[in-house]
Amino acid sequence: MSINVTKSYLPPMEEYAGYLAGIWERVYLTNAGPLVVELEKSLKEYLGVKHLFFVNNGTIALQIALKALDLKGEILTTPFSYVATTSSIVWEGSTPVFVDIDPETLCINPELLEAAITPQTVAIMATHVYGNPCNVEAIEAVAQRHGLRVIYDAAHAFGVMYKDMSVLNYGDVSTLSFHATKLFHTVEGGAIVTNDDDLAHRISYMRNFGHNGPEAFWGVGVNGKSSEFHAAMGLCVLPRVDELIRRRREISELYDALLADTPVRQPRLQEHTTRYNYSYYPTVMPSEPVLLAVRDALNAADVTPRRYFYPSLNTLEYVGHQPAPVSEDISTRALCLPLYYELTDEEVQLICSIIRSAL
Ligand SMILES: *Cc1c(COP(=O)(O)O)cnc(C)c1O
Repeated sequence: MSINVTKSYLPPMEEYAGYLAGIWERVYLTNAGPLVVELEKSLKEYLGVKHLFFVNNGTIALQIALKALDLKGEILTTPFSYVATTSSIVWEGSTPVFVDIDPETLCINPELLEAAITPQTVAIMATHVYGNPCNVEAIEAVAQRHGLRVIYDAAHAFGVMYKDMSVLNYGDVSTLSFHATKLFHTVEGGAIVTNDDDLAHRISYMRNFGHNGPEAFWGVGVNGKSSEFHAAMGLCVLPRVDELIRRRREISELYDALLADTPVRQPRLQEHTTRYNYSYYPTVMPSEPVLLAVRDALNAADVTPRRYFYPSLNTLEYVGHQPAPVSEDISTRALCLPLYYELTDEEVQLICSIIRSAL
């Protein structure tokens, strides 16, 4: 028996085949086809957002967001995230300036934002890490005081609600990833979400080469489109997301109970989170040697947790060294335990007993 940190959810094959039959009939494979249009509509309804653009991955979503806001300069960002949060800033020609994280929620610490602002600062790009919402109100207050744009990397925050509203409604733009490892997936994919009509207009052209009809162009663009095959997977998974979240919650609560009297800690959920999505089961171990001992003991039993997120992004060689002591410390101690729909209670019990014996 081999247990990985995650396992992609696959819907019944016949259901996906049903969509394939339609694709074969229409011979319409990509370029805003009917399934893409249907998925975008269903996602807007499910998430409760105004504009949503389905794109081919979560990284291009970040890149188009940066481009659509016309950002060039210093961007305040979190060192505790997946590498794409930082690399997309660098790729788009801006400079990431790292603002350390809150040691409890592991999201960017809004109290440290103002000290990092310079005349070159243009935006804040923060991650709702593990689906735990950032302190969106404090971030908005700083952004307003200093005329900064706000992008949320919401790759982990599908279905998360803050004060009974989708957390995706905060900031100028939020981006999602629908990669196979994410809670809701389309094999590869992502989305750009905004409430701003002008920005939505720019994004709609940018993701399709700037095409304005077959022979005219409206500004520079890129290929951010996705296909009917990817949309079909999304249409199969979306009706099951609530059930996936329900089971993930059960598993997470079992982990909580089985690890409660140990030194293994969990991040604190942001206040006013009215719906969490259980997209990961992150732990913070007491020290890096303990983390390594736990990991090795699990690996020996063919269980593969992941060091999300390691290394701290401020230590990447291409960003120049900038200190972020809290993130550097947490990243040496953070370990995500296996969490997926098909994981059984017995497997969780086994994982926890291995962890307890390695502590
Ligand atoms: C997965 C992820 C991305 C990248 O998304 P892709 O769809 O893999 O390109 C970006 N940011 C975060 C925080 C992620 O977890």
